[in-house]
Amino acid sequence: MYDIGIIGGGTAGMTAAIYGQRAGKKTIIIEGGTFGGQITSSPNVENYPGIASVSGSEFSMNLLDQAVKLGVETVTEQVTGIRDENGVKVICTPGKEYACRSVILATGVTHRHLGVPNEERLTGAGVSYCATCDGAFFRGRDVAVVGGGSTALQDAEFLSNYCRRVYLIHRRDEFRGEDNIVKRLEQKDNVEFILNTTVQEIIGDMSVERLILNNKKSGKQFKLEVSGIFIAVGHIPQNEMFAETVKLDGNGFILAAEDCVTSHPGIFAAGDCRTKEVRQLTTAAADGAVAALAACKYIAG
Ligand code: NAP
Repeated sequence: MYDIGIIGGGTAGMTAAIYGQRAGKKTIIIEGGTFGGQITSSPNVENYPGIASVSGSEFSMNLLDQAVKLGVETVTEQVTGIRDENGVKVICTPGKEYACRSVILATGVTHRHLGVPNEERLTGAGVSYCATCDGAFFRGRDVAVVGGGSTALQDAEFLSNYCRRVYLIHRRDEFRGEDNIVKRLEQKDNVEFILNTTVQEIIGDMSVERLILNNKKSGKQFKLEVSGIFIAVGHIPQNEMFAETVKLDGNGFILAAEDCVTSHPGIFAAGDCRTKEVRQLTTAAADGAVAALAACKYIAG
Protein backbone atom coordinates (compact mmCIF):
# COMPACT_ATOMS: atom_id res chain seq x y z
CA MET A 1 0.00 0.00 0.00
CA TYR A 2 1.37 3.38 -1.02
CA ASP A 3 0.46 6.57 0.82
CA ILE A 4 0.55 8.66 -2.34
CA GLY A 5 0.27 7.32 -5.89
CA ILE A 6 1.15 9.94 -8.48
CA ILE A 7 0.07 9.51 -12.08
CA GLY A 8 2.42 11.47 -14.35
CA GLY A 9 6.11 12.25 -13.99
CA GLY A 10 6.28 15.84 -15.21
CA THR A 11 7.17 18.86 -13.11
CA ALA A 12 3.92 18.75 -11.11
CA GLY A 13 4.12 15.01 -10.43
CA MET A 14 7.79 15.00 -9.48
CA THR A 15 7.42 18.05 -7.21
CA ALA A 16 4.48 16.34 -5.50
CA ALA A 17 6.63 13.23 -5.03
CA ILE A 18 9.46 15.25 -3.47
CA TYR A 19 7.04 16.89 -1.03
CA GLY A 20 5.24 13.62 -0.25
CA GLN A 21 8.40 11.62 0.34
CA ARG A 22 9.95 14.39 2.44
CA ALA A 23 6.79 14.32 4.58
CA GLY A 24 7.55 10.65 5.30
CA LYS A 25 4.91 9.23 2.97
CA LYS A 26 5.53 6.16 0.84
CA THR A 27 5.27 7.64 -2.65
CA ILE A 28 5.24 6.20 -6.15
CA ILE A 29 5.17 7.93 -9.53
CA ILE A 30 3.70 6.03 -12.47
CA GLU A 31 4.67 7.57 -15.81
CA GLY A 32 3.52 6.29 -19.19
CA GLY A 33 6.26 7.84 -21.30
CA THR A 34 9.37 9.80 -20.44
CA PHE A 35 9.93 11.34 -17.03
CA GLY A 36 10.12 15.12 -17.26
CA GLY A 37 6.99 15.87 -19.24
CA GLN A 38 6.58 18.84 -21.55
CA ILE A 39 9.49 20.92 -20.27
CA THR A 40 11.95 18.22 -21.37
CA SER A 41 11.68 19.48 -24.95
CA SER A 42 12.24 23.15 -24.02
CA PRO A 43 15.76 24.06 -25.19
CA ASN A 44 16.19 26.77 -22.62
CA VAL A 45 14.11 27.69 -19.58
CA GLU A 46 14.75 31.29 -18.56
CA ASN A 47 11.80 32.08 -16.30
CA TYR A 48 12.14 29.67 -13.38
CA PRO A 49 12.92 31.69 -10.24
CA GLY A 50 16.47 31.25 -9.01
CA ILE A 51 17.69 29.57 -12.20
CA ALA A 52 18.66 32.12 -14.86
CA SER A 53 18.99 29.56 -17.61
CA VAL A 54 18.74 25.78 -17.81
CA SER A 55 17.78 23.32 -20.54
CA GLY A 56 14.42 21.61 -20.02
CA SER A 57 16.03 18.18 -20.08
CA GLU A 58 18.60 19.12 -17.42
CA PHE A 59 15.85 20.62 -15.26
CA SER A 60 13.78 17.42 -15.53
CA MET A 61 16.74 15.13 -14.88
CA ASN A 62 17.59 17.12 -11.74
CA LEU A 63 14.00 16.81 -10.51
CA LEU A 64 13.92 13.06 -11.15
CA ASP A 65 17.31 12.60 -9.51
CA GLN A 66 16.15 14.58 -6.46
CA ALA A 67 12.98 12.48 -6.14
CA VAL A 68 14.75 9.13 -6.59
CA LYS A 69 17.49 10.04 -4.08
CA LEU A 70 14.79 10.79 -1.52
CA GLY A 71 13.41 7.27 -2.01
CA VAL A 72 10.46 7.90 -4.33
CA GLU A 73 9.60 4.78 -6.33
CA THR A 74 9.21 5.27 -10.07
CA VAL A 75 7.72 2.97 -12.68
CA THR A 76 7.16 3.39 -16.40
CA GLU A 77 3.73 1.96 -17.14
CA GLN A 78 0.64 3.24 -18.91
CA VAL A 79 -2.18 3.87 -16.44
CA THR A 80 -5.53 2.62 -17.72
CA GLY A 81 -7.80 3.79 -14.89
CA ILE A 82 -8.44 4.15 -11.17
CA ARG A 83 -11.09 2.55 -9.00
CA ASP A 84 -12.03 3.19 -5.41
CA GLU A 85 -12.41 0.15 -3.14
CA ASN A 86 -13.80 1.35 0.18
CA GLY A 87 -11.56 4.41 0.20
CA VAL A 88 -8.48 2.65 -1.17
CA LYS A 89 -7.58 3.98 -4.58
CA VAL A 90 -6.41 1.30 -6.97
CA ILE A 91 -4.36 2.54 -9.92
CA CYS A 92 -4.55 0.08 -12.82
CA THR A 93 -1.95 -0.49 -15.51
CA PRO A 94 -2.05 -3.29 -18.13
CA GLY A 95 -0.09 -5.73 -15.97
CA LYS A 96 -0.40 -4.44 -12.40
CA GLU A 97 -2.47 -2.69 -9.77
CA TYR A 98 -1.19 -0.20 -7.19
CA ALA A 99 -3.20 0.31 -4.00
CA CYS A 100 -2.86 3.84 -2.63
CA ARG A 101 -4.29 5.83 0.26
CA SER A 102 -4.38 8.93 -1.94
CA VAL A 103 -3.77 9.75 -5.58
CA ILE A 104 -2.42 12.81 -7.36
CA LEU A 105 -3.33 13.14 -11.03
CA ALA A 106 -0.54 15.01 -12.79
CA THR A 107 -1.13 13.80 -16.31
CA GLY A 108 -0.23 17.05 -18.07
CA VAL A 109 -1.35 17.64 -21.61
CA THR A 110 -0.53 16.36 -25.07
CA HIS A 111 0.27 18.19 -28.34
CA ARG A 112 -2.65 19.72 -30.21
CA HIS A 113 -2.68 18.85 -33.91
CA LEU A 114 -3.61 21.25 -36.72
CA GLY A 115 -6.01 18.76 -38.26
CA VAL A 116 -4.96 19.55 -41.85
CA PRO A 117 -4.61 17.06 -44.73
CA ASN A 118 -1.49 14.85 -44.59
CA GLU A 119 -0.50 15.95 -41.07
CA GLU A 120 -0.87 12.49 -39.58
CA ARG A 121 0.55 10.63 -42.61
CA LEU A 122 3.72 12.77 -42.71
CA THR A 123 4.33 12.81 -38.95
CA GLY A 124 7.93 11.66 -38.60
CA ALA A 125 8.54 12.46 -42.29
CA GLY A 126 8.83 16.22 -41.94
CA VAL A 127 5.93 16.89 -39.57
CA SER A 128 7.15 17.22 -35.99
CA TYR A 129 5.81 18.37 -32.62
CA CYS A 130 9.26 18.63 -31.01
CA ALA A 131 11.92 20.94 -32.41
CA THR A 132 14.56 19.95 -29.87
CA CYS A 133 14.04 16.26 -30.68
CA ASP A 134 13.98 16.54 -34.48
CA GLY A 135 15.56 19.91 -35.34
CA ALA A 136 19.01 18.53 -36.09
CA PHE A 137 17.59 16.43 -38.96
CA PHE A 138 16.80 19.67 -40.79
CA ARG A 139 20.29 21.19 -40.76
CA GLY A 140 20.70 23.53 -43.75
CA ARG A 141 17.05 23.10 -44.83
CA ASP A 142 14.05 25.44 -44.89
CA VAL A 143 11.42 24.77 -42.24
CA ALA A 144 8.22 26.27 -40.86
CA VAL A 145 7.10 26.63 -37.26
CA VAL A 146 3.37 27.07 -36.60
CA GLY A 147 2.05 28.84 -33.51
CA GLY A 148 2.36 32.08 -31.59
CA GLY A 149 3.03 30.93 -28.03
CA SER A 150 6.32 30.58 -26.16
CA THR A 151 6.85 27.07 -27.51
CA ALA A 152 6.63 28.22 -31.14
CA LEU A 153 8.93 31.18 -30.45
CA GLN A 154 11.48 28.98 -28.70
CA ASP A 155 11.26 26.41 -31.47
CA ALA A 156 11.87 29.06 -34.14
CA GLU A 157 14.87 30.38 -32.23
CA PHE A 158 16.29 26.90 -31.72
CA LEU A 159 15.79 25.90 -35.37
CA SER A 160 17.37 29.13 -36.63
CA ASN A 161 20.67 27.75 -35.34
CA TYR A 162 20.45 24.73 -37.66
CA CYS A 163 18.21 25.62 -40.56
CA ARG A 164 18.82 27.77 -43.62
CA ARG A 165 15.49 29.55 -43.23
CA VAL A 166 12.77 29.42 -40.56
CA TYR A 167 9.26 30.67 -41.34
CA LEU A 168 7.17 31.38 -38.24
CA ILE A 169 3.52 31.06 -39.24
CA HIS A 170 0.96 32.50 -36.83
CA ARG A 171 -2.78 32.96 -37.28
CA ARG A 172 -2.81 36.45 -35.73
CA ASP A 173 -0.47 39.45 -35.92
CA GLU A 174 0.36 39.40 -32.21
CA PHE A 175 2.31 36.73 -30.40
CA ARG A 176 1.09 35.18 -27.20
CA GLY A 177 4.61 34.15 -26.16
CA GLU A 178 7.42 36.06 -24.47
CA ASP A 179 8.21 39.42 -26.03
CA ASN A 180 11.95 39.16 -25.44
CA ILE A 181 12.13 36.06 -27.66
CA VAL A 182 10.13 37.89 -30.37
CA LYS A 183 12.72 40.69 -30.23
CA ARG A 184 15.58 38.20 -30.57
CA LEU A 185 13.87 36.54 -33.54
CA GLU A 186 13.41 39.92 -35.25
CA GLN A 187 17.19 40.32 -35.18
CA LYS A 188 17.79 37.00 -36.98
CA ASP A 189 18.48 37.17 -40.73
CA ASN A 190 17.17 33.65 -41.37
CA VAL A 191 13.82 34.00 -39.55
CA GLU A 192 10.74 35.32 -41.31
CA PHE A 193 7.33 35.94 -39.70
CA ILE A 194 4.27 34.98 -41.76
CA LEU A 195 1.40 36.51 -39.81
CA ASN A 196 -2.40 36.38 -40.08
CA THR A 197 -1.87 33.12 -41.89
CA THR A 198 -3.07 29.56 -41.41
CA VAL A 199 -1.88 26.25 -42.81
CA GLN A 200 -4.47 24.71 -45.14
CA GLU A 201 -2.60 21.60 -46.25
CA ILE A 202 0.74 19.86 -45.99
CA ILE A 203 1.95 18.49 -49.31
CA GLY A 204 4.48 15.73 -49.84
CA ASP A 205 4.80 12.25 -51.22
CA MET A 206 7.33 10.46 -48.98
CA SER A 207 8.11 13.54 -46.87
CA VAL A 208 7.04 17.17 -46.51
CA GLU A 209 7.68 19.19 -49.67
CA ARG A 210 5.53 22.30 -49.30
CA LEU A 211 2.65 23.92 -47.42
CA ILE A 212 -0.49 25.53 -48.73
CA LEU A 213 -1.10 28.64 -46.65
CA ASN A 214 -4.01 31.04 -46.43
CA ASN A 215 -3.61 34.71 -45.63
CA LYS A 216 -6.65 35.50 -43.51
CA LYS A 217 -6.65 39.21 -44.36
CA SER A 218 -6.40 38.96 -48.15
CA GLY A 219 -8.05 35.54 -48.38
CA LYS A 220 -5.29 34.51 -50.79
CA GLN A 221 -3.73 31.05 -50.83
CA PHE A 222 -0.03 30.60 -51.48
CA LYS A 223 2.63 27.87 -51.42
CA LEU A 224 5.65 27.69 -49.17
CA GLU A 225 8.47 25.27 -50.01
CA VAL A 226 9.77 23.66 -46.79
CA SER A 227 11.05 20.24 -45.85
CA GLY A 228 9.86 20.40 -42.27
CA ILE A 229 6.92 21.77 -40.30
CA PHE A 230 7.13 22.08 -36.52
CA ILE A 231 3.67 22.36 -35.03
CA ALA A 232 3.47 24.20 -31.69
CA VAL A 233 -0.17 25.19 -31.38
CA GLY A 234 -0.76 24.35 -27.74
CA HIS A 235 -1.86 21.31 -25.86
CA ILE A 236 -4.93 19.31 -24.93
CA PRO A 237 -5.59 17.24 -21.79
CA GLN A 238 -5.80 13.45 -21.77
CA ASN A 239 -8.06 12.68 -18.83
CA GLU A 240 -10.81 10.57 -20.45
CA MET A 241 -9.81 7.49 -18.46
CA PHE A 242 -10.57 9.33 -15.20
CA ALA A 243 -13.90 10.77 -16.36
CA GLU A 244 -15.92 8.33 -14.25
CA THR A 245 -13.85 9.03 -11.14
CA VAL A 246 -13.37 12.82 -11.13
CA LYS A 247 -15.36 15.62 -12.75
CA LEU A 248 -13.89 17.16 -15.92
CA ASP A 249 -14.74 20.52 -17.49
CA GLY A 250 -16.08 20.84 -21.05
CA ASN A 251 -12.54 20.82 -22.46
CA GLY A 252 -11.46 17.69 -20.59
CA PHE A 253 -9.47 19.38 -17.81
CA ILE A 254 -9.94 18.00 -14.28
CA LEU A 255 -12.13 20.33 -12.23
CA ALA A 256 -9.97 21.45 -9.31
CA ALA A 257 -9.20 24.87 -7.89
CA GLU A 258 -5.93 26.20 -6.45
CA ASP A 259 -6.27 23.71 -3.56
CA CYS A 260 -5.93 20.88 -6.16
CA VAL A 261 -8.96 19.13 -4.62
CA THR A 262 -11.07 17.17 -7.15
CA SER A 263 -14.66 15.94 -6.90
CA HIS A 264 -13.42 12.60 -5.49
CA PRO A 265 -12.18 12.50 -1.88
CA GLY A 266 -8.50 11.58 -1.68
CA ILE A 267 -7.81 12.26 -5.37
CA PHE A 268 -6.02 15.51 -6.19
CA ALA A 269 -5.06 17.13 -9.50
CA ALA A 270 -1.84 19.05 -10.09
CA GLY A 271 -0.33 20.95 -13.00
CA ASP A 272 -1.56 21.46 -16.54
CA CYS A 273 -4.17 18.67 -16.37
CA ARG A 274 -6.44 20.68 -14.06
CA THR A 275 -8.62 23.72 -14.70
CA LYS A 276 -6.39 26.77 -14.24
CA GLU A 277 -5.53 30.15 -15.72
CA VAL A 278 -1.74 30.01 -15.88
CA ARG A 279 0.05 26.91 -17.14
CA GLN A 280 3.71 27.49 -16.40
CA LEU A 281 6.61 25.54 -14.96
CA THR A 282 6.34 27.55 -11.75
CA THR A 283 2.61 26.89 -11.38
CA ALA A 284 3.10 23.18 -12.11
CA ALA A 285 5.72 23.01 -9.33
CA ALA A 286 3.45 25.00 -7.01
CA ASP A 287 0.55 22.63 -7.68
CA GLY A 288 2.77 19.64 -6.95
CA ALA A 289 3.55 21.03 -3.50
CA VAL A 290 -0.07 21.99 -2.78
CA ALA A 291 -1.44 18.60 -3.91
CA ALA A 292 1.14 16.61 -1.92
CA LEU A 293 0.45 18.54 1.28
CA ALA A 294 -3.32 18.14 0.70
CA ALA A 295 -2.78 14.38 0.21
CA CYS A 296 -0.78 14.20 3.49
CA LYS A 297 -3.62 15.98 5.32
CA TYR A 298 -6.20 13.63 3.76
CA ILE A 299 -4.23 10.53 4.84
CA ALA A 300 -3.89 11.88 8.39
CA GLY A 301 -7.72 12.09 8.39
P1 NAP B 1 0.00 28.31 -26.06
O1 NAP B 1 0.57 29.39 -25.22
O2 NAP B 1 -1.36 27.78 -25.77
O3 NAP B 1 0.03 28.86 -27.57
C1 NAP B 1 -0.52 28.13 -28.61
C2 NAP B 1 -0.41 28.96 -29.87
O4 NAP B 1 -0.93 28.20 -30.95
C3 NAP B 1 -1.21 30.26 -29.81
O5 NAP B 1 -0.47 31.29 -30.37
C4 NAP B 1 -2.44 29.94 -30.64
O6 NAP B 1 -2.89 31.06 -31.36
C5 NAP B 1 -1.93 28.94 -31.62
N1 NAP B 1 -2.95 28.00 -32.05
C6 NAP B 1 -3.79 27.23 -31.30
N2 NAP B 1 -4.57 26.46 -32.08
C7 NAP B 1 -4.21 26.73 -33.35
C8 NAP B 1 -4.63 26.24 -34.59
N3 NAP B 1 -5.60 25.30 -34.69
N4 NAP B 1 -4.06 26.73 -35.72
C9 NAP B 1 -3.08 27.67 -35.63
N5 NAP B 1 -2.62 28.17 -34.47
C10 NAP B 1 -3.18 27.70 -33.34
O7 NAP B 1 0.94 27.01 -26.13
P2 NAP B 1 2.52 26.86 -25.87
O8 NAP B 1 3.28 27.87 -26.65
O9 NAP B 1 2.83 25.44 -26.09
O10 NAP B 1 2.70 27.19 -24.34
C11 NAP B 1 1.96 26.45 -23.34
C12 NAP B 1 2.29 27.00 -21.96
O11 NAP B 1 3.63 26.65 -21.63
C13 NAP B 1 2.22 28.53 -21.90
O12 NAP B 1 1.72 28.90 -20.65
C14 NAP B 1 3.65 28.95 -22.06
O13 NAP B 1 3.93 30.22 -21.48
C15 NAP B 1 4.38 27.83 -21.36
N6 NAP B 1 5.75 27.66 -21.88
C16 NAP B 1 6.80 28.01 -21.08
C17 NAP B 1 8.11 27.85 -21.52
C18 NAP B 1 9.28 28.21 -20.65
O14 NAP B 1 10.40 28.27 -21.10
N7 NAP B 1 9.09 28.46 -19.37
C19 NAP B 1 8.36 27.35 -22.79
C20 NAP B 1 7.28 27.00 -23.59
C21 NAP B 1 5.98 27.17 -23.12
P3 NAP B 1 -3.61 32.31 -30.63
O15 NAP B 1 -2.51 33.07 -29.96
O16 NAP B 1 -4.25 33.02 -31.77
O17 NAP B 1 -4.60 31.71 -29.68
